[in-house]
Amino acid sequence: TLNYFETKCRASKEITERAKKRIPGGVQHNLAFNYPFPLAVDKAEGAYLTDRDGNVYIDFLQAGGPTILGSNYAPVNEAVAEVIKASGPVTGLFHEYELKLAEIINQYMPHIEMYRSLGSGTEAVMAAVRAARASTGKKMVIKVGGAYHGWSDTVVYGLRVPGSFRMNAKGIPFGATGRTRESFPHDLGTLKRKLIENRLRGGTAAVIVEPLGPESGTRPVPKDFNAQVRKLCDEFGSMLIFDEVVTGFRTGLGGAAGYFGVTPDLTVFGKAVSGGYPMAGGVGGSAKAMAVFGSGLDGKNGAHIQVGGTLSANPLSCAAGYFAIKEMARTNAPVIAGRAGDRLTRGLQKLIDKYGLPYVAYNQGSIVHLESSGVLMLDMRNPVKLFKENKGRKKLMEQMGAAYAAHGIITLAGSRMYTSMADTDEVIDDALSRFDQVFAQVEGV
Ligand code: PMP
Repeated sequence: TLNYFETKCRASKEITERAKKRIPGGVQHNLAFNYPFPLAVDKAEGAYLTDRDGNVYIDFLQAGGPTILGSNYAPVNEAVAEVIKASGPVTGLFHEYELKLAEIINQYMPHIEMYRSLGSGTEAVMAAVRAARASTGKKMVIKVGGAYHGWSDTVVYGLRVPGSFRMNAKGIPFGATGRTRESFPHDLGTLKRKLIENRLRGGTAAVIVEPLGPESGTRPVPKDFNAQVRKLCDEFGSMLIFDEVVTGFRTGLGGAAGYFGVTPDLTVFGKAVSGGYPMAGGVGGSAKAMAVFGSGLDGKNGAHIQVGGTLSANPLSCAAGYFAIKEMARTNAPVIAGRAGDRLTRGLQKLIDKYGLPYVAYNQGSIVHLESSGVLMLDMRNPVKLFKENKGRKKLMEQMGAAYAAHGIITLAGSRMYTSMADTDEVIDDALSRFDQVFAQVEGV
């Protein structure tokens, strides 16, 4: 692996080294790996990425999930270019594509009666939590341990509250998380206990879940889990928030709500909701749940929660989302990407068995997990142990990610892969033969 990077990736090394002088940490957004150094990308199209040195990779990162149609998808680019030609990327006034996006989401997700465009998944989570508090008049929020809902103070990843052990919590005052509680994955008993405890703390405004399970399906939930959470929310008068940043449109155009047949009060969107274009985020739900969102100019100060953003709901990202969803419907992209995910997973599991490796491959359609087999046993109840095990696991998977890259495959930190409509059987089979080469070398580890 090291040999590959040192000999074939000199231009990447040079520019990412130079970046360290002007950008904290050198790179600002790198979901693949930093070991031995990050790759710099020049081109992306369909199923492939090209780095600065001209090396071509099969792209199973797909930007972290938004590009279900494949990278740099021309029909959406062309439609968006027309919008830019006419209005530019932003005017600060209403544009038809705001409505078209809300309408097309509603067409495939009828429970999203109203939709508010925002700037990112993180912002959308902030807005959904605020909306739940405003409309229930309750205070507490419950999330699931290990879930990622963006990087805002109240729900930041890995935070264990209450208690003294807080991961990734630098710069976040304890008070900011004082009204957040975490329940254990898959554990309805703890969730119910937190809901009961919270009655003495001003009640639970919302339970927020990633419907496939924490970190979008890395720790999958049983099929009826979401329905049970829905029931508990109804019993305790709390809102159920689905974080569909990853799953929205990817697990089918109806999202995870459609897949599980469970209707949340509020849904958070990101990633695919602007088809891979910037400003991917928004909140939607029933007209009742969305009633606390106003236009911001309706003069009803105090009746509505404040949300905003100079660039939110801009014509460019709304049009990109609208055209991407329309194309996904026309091409059946989520299903095609899902089949590619199935093929990749089956092939990976065969290779794992062939070499007797301590890994496991599993998928939810186009979301493919390739994990050290210990991951499903990580003990969420013991934060210190969890932290140590998880750190070890992350390092190992990241190093594997670099090894995959040295054989022409880009993954999300070596442990997750997103397939897209561009992944034909040939692409998947090519990838599997490359994985075979990597696994052949780690035999006996
Ligand atoms: N929720 C989930 C489940 C996510 O995976 C992410 C991003 N990976 C977010 C929220 C945050 O979205 P964004 O990066 O757009 O802020």
